[in-house]
Formats: sequence, C-alpha cells, structure tokens
Amino acid sequence: MTTTNVQRTTNNAGIPVESDEHSLTVGPDGPILLQDHYLIEKMAQFNRERVPERVVHAKGSGAYGRFEVTNDISQFTKADLFQPGRSTKMLARFSTVAGEQGSPDTWRDPRGFALKFYTEHGNYDLVGNNTPVFFVRDTIKFQDFIRSQKRRPDNGLRDNDMQWDFWTLSPESAHQVTWLMGDRGIPKTYRNMNGYGSHTYMWINGSGEQFWIKYHFKTDQGIDFLTQSEADELAGQNADAHRQDLWEAIDHGDFPSWTLYVQVMPFGDAAGYRFNPFDLTKVWPHSDYPLIEVGRMTLDTNPEDYFVHIEQAAFEPSNMVPGIAPSPDKMLLGRLFSYPDTHRYRIGPNYAQLPPNRPHVPVHSYAKDGPMRFEPNRVGAPYAPNSYGGPAASPQAYGEMAGWRSAGDMVREAYTAHAEDDDFGQPGTMVREVMDDAARSRLVSNVAGHLSQGVSGPVMERALTYWRNIDQQVGDRIAESVKRA
Ligand code: NDP
Repeated sequence: MTTTNVQRTTNNAGIPVESDEHSLTVGPDGPILLQDHYLIEKMAQFNRERVPERVVHAKGSGAYGRFEVTNDISQFTKADLFQPGRSTKMLARFSTVAGEQGSPDTWRDPRGFALKFYTEHGNYDLVGNNTPVFFVRDTIKFQDFIRSQKRRPDNGLRDNDMQWDFWTLSPESAHQVTWLMGDRGIPKTYRNMNGYGSHTYMWINGSGEQFWIKYHFKTDQGIDFLTQSEADELAGQNADAHRQDLWEAIDHGDFPSWTLYVQVMPFGDAAGYRFNPFDLTKVWPHSDYPLIEVGRMTLDTNPEDYFVHIEQAAFEPSNMVPGIAPSPDKMLLGRLFSYPDTHRYRIGPNYAQLPPNRPHVPVHSYAKDGPMRFEPNRVGAPYAPNSYGGPAASPQAYGEMAGWRSAGDMVREAYTAHAEDDDFGQPGTMVREVMDDAARSRLVSNVAGHLSQGVSGPVMERALTYWRNIDQQVGDRIAESVKRA
C-alpha cells in the first residue's frame, strides 16, 4: 500500500468531498443533517461491503499466472490451451472447504485448487482439489455431506460426531477420509500441495477421437505437510498463514509452479475396466494409466484487490472449451449446474462481466440486462437468428458432438457392474503400500485424536469397524489408541 496522498477524496460520483473527518451538523453538538450525502453514502456502502460467502470453499487465496505447454499432446485433444507452444493467461484460487471466511488456513481439510484459463476459445475452468478423490460419488449426497462437516443447527458448533456419523454411514468416503487423515490432510503451504482435476473428463482430438482423462498438477516446490500439533499451533498464531505465504512468495519473485500431467484412457476401455472409471472415490492406478506430461503453470502476479479478483472470482466446471467435455461422473454432472447457480445468487447474474471472470476474447452472447450489467449487448437484435448482423452459432468448433453411450434405462443405482467397485480396496492399498511406518503412525494418531473429541458410542463402534475394513491392523491400533485417550 502506498502512503503518498496527493489525490483529493471524491465521493462515488467523482465529486470532491468537503471533509474526511467531520459530519455536517447544526453546531458542534447539533443533529446530523440528511443533506450530508457523503456521510450517508459512506454508511450505506459499508453496510453492503460483503457478498454472501461461498457455502463451501469460503476461505481462499489466489493469484494470476500463465500456463505453458511443454509437450505435444495434440493427438488427444484439440483444446486450444493444450496445443504445442501455447502460453495462456490464467487465475488460480486455493481454499479450505468447510471453514468460513475467517477460519484458520491450517485446519485439516481438503484444499480447493480452482483454475481459470483465458483461452482463445473462451474461459476454461478446471475446478479441482488437492486430492484425486472425493467423499461421495453421487451429487445427491453432496449437500448432506457438507452439512455434516459444517456447524450444528442448535449450538452453532462443529461436531466430530456428525462427521463420523455421516462418513461411517457412507462407506464410499473411506478413500478420501484415509487421505484426509494422512499427511496430505494439512499441506505446509498452498505451494506445497498437488492439484487434481479429480473427475474424469473427456478429451476430443482434431479427428473427433474421444479419450477419458484425469488431470494431475504436481507441485514443483515439493510436497510438504504440517503435523497435527504444528497446524494447531499455527492456527492460533496466524489464521492466514497460507494466504500470507502465497502472497509473499509471489511478491518476492519466488513464483510457485506446478507441472501438469494427464492420465489418458482410450474411450473403449471404460466399460470393461476393473472398476467404474467415472467413480470419484477411485483413482486410476498409475501402473494402468501412466502420467503424461503436458505443461507448467506458474503464478507470478498477486491480485491488485483481493475482493475484486479473488472473492468475486467465479469458477464453474461447466466452462469447457472445444476439445474438452464432461464424463458420466455423477458428481461432475451435478457441479455443472451448481456452480453457475451459486454465482448468480452470490455475486449476481452478470458475474461473468467482472474482471477475474471476463474472457480475454470478445463475447457475442445474446444474454442481456439484469442487475449491474455494464457491457452493452452488441448482437444487432436481441434474438437469434436475426437479420441485423447478429452472431450465429459455430457447430464446426465442436465437430462431432462429444457424447457417451448409455444403457438407456432411467435408474437410481449404485455402481456394481465392475469387479472392483468396492469402497475399501483403494484406501487399503494406500495405507499398506503408499504410506511408510511413520506416516501410518501419524494416521493412527490423527484419527484417534479426532475420534476422541465428542464422538458418541454407536458412532465410535461404526468408525472402528470402518477402519478395520480399510485395514485390520490400522483399525486395531486406532481402537487401542482411542481406549488409552
Ligand atoms: P502408485 O504407487 O503409482 O502411486 C501412489 C501415489 O500416491 C503417489 O504417486 C503419490 O501421488 C501418492 N501419495 C504418496 N503419499 C501419499 C499420501 N501420504 N497421501 C496421499 N497420496 C500419497 O500407486 P497407485 O497409482 O496404484 O495408487 C495407490 C494409492 O495411491 C491410491 O489408492 C491412492 O490412494 C494413492 N494415490 C494415487 C494416485 C493416482 O492417481 N494413481 C494419486 C494420488 C494418490 P502423487 O504423485 O500424485 O503425489
């Protein structure tokens, strides 16, 4: 912030104001006059400074940067931003999930990893997390899941009993809960975590061939984490530790970067794969689908104004550009509706015109009017088709319509068609094969510590069974630890 003060204060209409310090009164002790318009503008503006905070991912930090392609993957997608040699401006926002605006950055929680790429074909938003999986696989359970992680309606407190109650009644959460309770549940900084697209997406190349893909952004700073006690201490000292770290690193020219890799599954593999490849609670093992390098994203510019650029940033998985399409992942399909809906409510229907959300290419949309609209609708006549030079759709940008074949019947069913559609296999692999002894011990201690705070008898019994289903030994160790606590 600059301390020089050569400019003269004006009100919002640019009119010079008479005083920054004294309201207009009848005599020094007299009543305040209604004609002190500047005072009234100040008070009224102040009362309206907030937009509603996000229901999830309320506390966040972000920066602008660029994404540069380092490999030729044009055989898999024709998306403009992934073509050889391209450099695309972008915005990133990292966040915690369950906490509110002022909550500590170091609470145990997944982290949001939301990206907006300003491509030549409009904005591409990849709204991921720092984890490759999620707690639920069906969008109909998302609202229940979030309520179980937030605050109780009666006393307004968060409650571990609610969390374990929901998780143990929803065994599909086991993989993400194992991940959350392990080292990566509290990253050391936003710069020391990976980002994952998490969902499966479809890519389409220039010949119309389709592929299923998963995104992995690996931190170039190295993975690092905080132990539970380090995080607890920091939460009390500096609730904004991660926000501050990101800002200061960029401010000092120490620009964080991430290398993007993708896993690519041939379109025809999906039906016969050993588990449902669209299930958000599963990863595709690297040994089945190895990582292929794509490029690097680097964050090099702090926002000029936090509220304008980060609080009002609106990411939406439905922003997909030609060459990229959704998959049948039920969580992704729900999010395609939910994100733009939340922005219309939270920021207003013209949120796409604000600086962080504005595409860097011209917009020729027939949308018009609404609160706070400031871009004229320049389409000849406000309907399509029109004979006054209005824009016309471009089906050629998409080629063959990207889609998937479906069974055709309307059903409400769990995934059971594949041999390994179970809930506990992958978290078990993680505990036994990915974690070393020290990481397993920290996991046991983290879970036991969490369970020892307010979890009731029947929920506790179910939680111990849940962990024994993931891994018998780890479950037994957690049970012993809880007994000792
Ligand atoms: P691999 O041995 O090929 O991969 C294991 C991966 O686990 C690593 O590449 C690393 O992902 C990640 N990892 C390492 N330590 C931790 C930790 N403490 N917490 C979370 N993730 C960690 O095995 P598979 O591909 O067969 O996966 C085995 C298990 O690894 C999975 O069940 C899953 O839990 C976990 N995993 C797998 C990923 C995948 O896409 N296959 C991605 C992340 C985790 P990274 O290199 O991305 O940092």
